[in-house]
Amino acid sequence: LVALTGVNKHFGDLHVLKDINLSINRGEVVVVIGPSGSGKSTLCRAINRLEPIDSGEIMLDGQPLPSEGKALAKLRADVGMVFQSFNLFAHKTILQNVTLGPLKVRKTDPKQAEQRAMELLERVGVANQASKYPAQLSGGQQQRVAIARALAMDPKVILFDEPTSALDPEMIQEVLEVMIDLARQNMTMVVVTHEMGFARSAANRVVFMADGEIVEEATPDTFFTNPTSRRAQDFLGKIL
Ligand code: ATP
Ligand code: MG
Repeated sequence: LVALTGVNKHFGDLHVLKDINLSINRGEVVVVIGPSGSGKSTLCRAINRLEPIDSGEIMLDGQPLPSEGKALAKLRADVGMVFQSFNLFAHKTILQNVTLGPLKVRKTDPKQAEQRAMELLERVGVANQASKYPAQLSGGQQQRVAIARALAMDPKVILFDEPTSALDPEMIQEVLEVMIDLARQNMTMVVVTHEMGFARSAANRVVFMADGEIVEEATPDTFFTNPTSRRAQDFLGKIL
């Protein structure tokens, strides 16, 4: 579904993505882990073209990523993104946050968009907050709204960039549960996270990045019990 071939990205002199080759199959859950600064966020941002790449190719559904205009807006809808910092629209209600994309990009009928949004808010457990504003919700609730907002676009894949790392401990689980539920329903997901419990229980594959490179790729079982690279062993030694 998503295929990166020989992808390189620099920020000035800094080579942040080094010849990345990665393919993500439909229905697969890929967890990306690695030390701070290893290029995980840049990788996610490249996949929905929030960050242009210097060389290589990224394909979605067999098509190269569009770089502008309507096609780019459609790409952003097809490739959902959930950030660490929720990024909800502060001056729109929860319901409006979820209907906005479908109305604008998908040109969905307003009644239908609202009905679908309510179903999704129900699914992530915040339907009773629909008329409130983001600031009136807890971090965990806001993040679940952000997931509902991504789902409202019927994305082909959702990228999660450390979706729980800004949350208080007691709210982490409620967000992870929504994500585990999505994984069970075969949503294609790329998840940057330090939640190793999630990686073990929901990932089909773990991708370990260090210094802009994919150093190791394995099933969670193999990766956690038998990491082959020194860098992965060191990293796991520090976090487990
Ligand atoms: P973290 O775990 O801290 O989120 P990360 O693996 O997501 O780290 P990236 O955010 O992808 O890492 O950053 C990779 C490298 O690129 C870092 O050295 C970072 O400082 C640098 N970088 C990221 N964005 C920019 C930018 N817009 N301009 C310049 N350098 C950047
Ligand atoms: Mg990051």
